Amino acid sequence: KFSWIVSIIILAIVIVGCSDDASSEGGGDSETVGIAMPTQSSERWVLDGENMESEFEELGYEVDLQYAEDVVENQVSQIENMITRGVDALVIASIDGEALTEVLEQAENQEIPVIAYDRLIMNSDHVSYYATFDNFKVGELQGQYIEEELELADGEGPFNIELFAGSPDDNNAYFYWDGAMSVLQSYIDEGQLVVQSDQTDFEQGATLRWDGAEAQERMDNLLSAHYSSEEIDVVYSPFDGISRGVISSLKAVGYGSDSNSMPIVTGQDAELSSIKSIIAGEQTQTIFKDTRKLAESAVDMTDSILNDEEPEVNDTETYENGEKVVPSNLLEPISVDIDNYEEELIDSGYYTEDQLQ
Ligand code: BGC
Repeated sequence: KFSWIVSIIILAIVIVGCSDDASSEGGGDSETVGIAMPTQSSERWVLDGENMESEFEELGYEVDLQYAEDVVENQVSQIENMITRGVDALVIASIDGEALTEVLEQAENQEIPVIAYDRLIMNSDHVSYYATFDNFKVGELQGQYIEEELELADGEGPFNIELFAGSPDDNNAYFYWDGAMSVLQSYIDEGQLVVQSDQTDFEQGATLRWDGAEAQERMDNLLSAHYSSEEIDVVYSPFDGISRGVISSLKAVGYGSDSNSMPIVTGQDAELSSIKSIIAGEQTQTIFKDTRKLAESAVDMTDSILNDEEPEVNDTETYENGEKVVPSNLLEPISVDIDNYEEELIDSGYYTEDQLQ
């Protein structure tokens, strides 16, 4: 009888010991988070995925991280598989923000919370929260950069500009455009900025899936149709991948040589190849959005929801998705050029000096 009591005591110690171990890993005891990312073809999403994966794992979560290579149907089926697999939460950076309504109904039926990551998911009331940057501000910073570099506020001009927009199925693209136009439109109206092609609408400048090759082709056409006797002074580009396409096109007709300097070309994401391009004097500017901070924000949100706590948000007005206003946490974007890239990107540990060689 004595050995029987000893066995029970030992068993009890083992059970208590195990549960102690599990709780010391944090709130994520064997819960799984499904992360659906758009594409690996742009560096930023690779960093976003890696950062979230390691931060979730540190909290003890399992992670199912999937990339859909910009194919909408792939993303939908990846999310379906995650739901079937029984993930506890979903973090989604959508390819087409309007294509997920049905699959999110399935998530709702299974009571799986959904965090929209960077891009707002439209037309669904089952988007719990949104972690992103201040997207209007991104465009505004790009516009202000052009305004300051050309001293437009002092009445300088006229300068020739062409305008590129992002993907029309990405809600962010409209925020960038509106932010930039909030600065540039009045200079266009006053004739200090001249759009030789007359392509001044979002739709005319839109670049499906943010595709650099498509942007390059459009730039080729603009240059041959409107710039045989005119010089182009600025290209407003909302994304580094588009900027690189534009720059290839400009170089092909002789810009960036000693006799013919590069126009101002803006960008976004501070991708490595674009920082190298800025150092080489080709791209002029980009917007740094620290993906470590965005990942941290999405991980905190998810962890709070799964622990029945209120996630931190700082905006409950801006992001209406057609069904509801999604409570959001907006981070600050930073404009970067040749003068501050070292401070913002190297001193902050985002890149090492070696990576920029
Ligand atoms: C993101 C940008 C990115 C673009 C292309 C947008 O939704 O907010 O950071 O440049 O997609 O990937």
